[in-house]
Amino acid sequence: MQGRGRLPRLAFLSQCHRSLYASLSVNKNRLAAISNITSISHHNLPTYHFQICSFRVSAYRMSTPPPPTQLLFHHDASLATHTTTLLTITPFSSLPAPDQSLFKSPPPTNAFVLTFPSTIFHPQGGGQPSDEGHITLTSPPSVAFSVISARHSITNPSQVLHLGFFAPSVPPPDERPLFTPGDQITQTINANLRNYHSRLHTAGHVLGSAVRHLLESQIEDFDELKASHFPDSAACEFMGLIDSKWKEPIQEKVNEFLAAKMPVEVEWWDEEDFRREGLERLIPRGKDGEVVKPENTDGGRWRVVRIVGAEVYPCGGTHVERTDLCGEVRVRKVGRGKGRSRVGYGVVPGLEG
Ligand SMILES: [Zn+2]
Repeated sequence: MQGRGRLPRLAFLSQCHRSLYASLSVNKNRLAAISNITSISHHNLPTYHFQICSFRVSAYRMSTPPPPTQLLFHHDASLATHTTTLLTITPFSSLPAPDQSLFKSPPPTNAFVLTFPSTIFHPQGGGQPSDEGHITLTSPPSVAFSVISARHSITNPSQVLHLGFFAPSVPPPDERPLFTPGDQITQTINANLRNYHSRLHTAGHVLGSAVRHLLESQIEDFDELKASHFPDSAACEFMGLIDSKWKEPIQEKVNEFLAAKMPVEVEWWDEEDFRREGLERLIPRGKDGEVVKPENTDGGRWRVVRIVGAEVYPCGGTHVERTDLCGEVRVRKVGRGKGRSRVGYGVVPGLEG
């Protein structure tokens, strides 16, 4: 069920960028003027902050685009530590306003945003919460930088922003960061929290598949819609009205899929692969129906998750390796409204990490 939630946003962003490129290409003189304007402090120009940042970033992308962040969890979700290079470190208050808006509760002081050429941190998206963890200098060992949230940048969608702060015991050194771009650093994620998120996420696929197997032929225009895999609000949405009498049969089907210990595998598909599998309806599309190409992937192919024997779905999240590793899954409330249904669920035991 992952992926659908963020695809319309990507479609919007790509349209947005295209229109920016178009306006820039016919207004080179104005671009030069805008580039000059960006040297003025944003604090003095709050009204124009978003507009100026947008143009500044687009102009930057045209000349020296920052490298996309390689998403290592796409290929190996078992990585709990990873050594790479620090690309940028930026005080939170200096981020472009659209990127600041991604983080609802930044630390009050000493907050920075880090970027890297590659990351093991799953950024919030597709219904899955962000990973948490910490960053240290690889050598010599250093004070830890706590990562409390990772998100895809709005101004550079192929980049992952890692928000956090240095340990409170470390006095802020006159607002200067303790890391420097080019430093070798080690990323470490909270593996217990990741496992919990992966269990919740995979359980969402199992639930979606169980409902499809039971009700696809029973409900007119049935389809799987978006899903949330957040603790306390995990649920899958479906087109069509599902009566509460189906709660127990759904639970039994979920239990059957869990007990079958179905392997969860990752594949990389192009459009032809979707057609060959008879799954053209799953080719990610924007609101206007145009195909939405994936970000941060090799060769522009979509990452697809196959639960062997149950379902295939485009998905960028993290999963456990077999369905039984979800642990016990409880189907909760079945709600209905506006022609849609929402089936809540949770995994047991509760919060970990
Ligand atoms: Zn998934």
